[in-house]
Amino acid sequence: MDLVDAHFPDSNRNAEKMARLAATSYTELGFDSVMPVFSIIQESSALGCDIQWEEKENWPTVRMNQPIWSEPDDIKIPANLLTHPDTKCVLDAIKLLRKEFGDEVAIIGKTMGPWSLGYHGFGVEKFLLMSLDDPGKTKLCLDKMKESTIQFGRAQIDAGADALTLPDHATGDLVSGEYYDRFLRELHIELVEKIPIPLILHICGRTIDRMDYIAQTGMAAFHYDSKNDPAESMEVVDRRISLVGNVNNPETLYAKGPEVVREEIRKNLAAGVQLVGPECAIPLQTSIENLKEIPRAVREWHQEHPSLN
Ligand SMILES: [Zn+2]
Repeated sequence: MDLVDAHFPDSNRNAEKMARLAATSYTELGFDSVMPVFSIIQESSALGCDIQWEEKENWPTVRMNQPIWSEPDDIKIPANLLTHPDTKCVLDAIKLLRKEFGDEVAIIGKTMGPWSLGYHGFGVEKFLLMSLDDPGKTKLCLDKMKESTIQFGRAQIDAGADALTLPDHATGDLVSGEYYDRFLRELHIELVEKIPIPLILHICGRTIDRMDYIAQTGMAAFHYDSKNDPAESMEVVDRRISLVGNVNNPETLYAKGPEVVREEIRKNLAAGVQLVGPECAIPLQTSIENLKEIPRAVREWHQEHPSLN
C-alpha cells in the first residue's frame, strides 16, 4: 500500500487504486499472478449488506448486527449486482490490469461461493443453525445465493480474468467433511459447469476430510490451509485437482523470517504441490521480505530440479 500509495479502504473501492495495489504482487514481489479482489465482501456490499470498510490496517468485514436475510424468500439478487460501485470496481480493475499487463502475468479474480454468502447475508451462527435444523431450507437458500456467484464470476471472465478464486467457507473448524458432501459437492460441480474458467476453491482450516469430495468437483485447484500436510493432501487428491497455498500466515509469514518461509515452500514442492503461496488472506503487516521469499524459493527449487521444469 505504501509503495504505490494505494491504501485500504480506498483500494477496495476505487478501481484504479485496486489495480495499482494488485499489480505490486508482480512488479514488487515477483509473483506470477495478480489478484485485485483483496476482500471477501465486494458482492455482499452489492447484495445489501452493511460493510465496515475499516482503515489502512484492517480487512473490511460485514457488520453482523443486522442480517439482510432470514428466510429463503428474502434472498433477491439485485438487478444492479454488477453495476454496483463495489462490484463494478472489481470488473474495472481487472480490465485495467489486462490492458496494462496483457498476457505477461495471470490475472486472478474472485467470486464468493453461496456458503460464504450465507454467512454474510444471514449471519454465521444463524446460517449454521439453519443447516442443522432444516437442511432442505438451507439448500434452497444456497440455490438462490449461487446466482450471485455465477453472475459475478462470469462478469469477471468477460472483464479479462484468467482464473477465479471461489472461496466457500465450509471451514474445518465450523463444519465437517460430511457437510461438504451433503451441501456443497454437487453445487460446486454445477458452478464449474456454469463459470467456464479455471476455478480455485478456497476453504480454510483442516480440510483433509473433504478433499476427496472436493477433488470430484472439477475445480481446477484447491487453495488449502497450512493445517493440512502437503504430502498427505496430495495423496488424497491423487492428481484429480491441483493444490495451491499452504504457507502459514499467522506464524510463518507474519512472525517468522524468510528461512522458515523457504522451508514451507520446499516442503510443498517436494510433495508435488503445483502452486504455492499464502494459505489465505495475509496479515496486512506481513513483511515484504517474507513475501518476496515465496517466488525466490520457488525459482531456487526449480534450478535445483531442472528435470521437473
Ligand atoms: Zn481463508
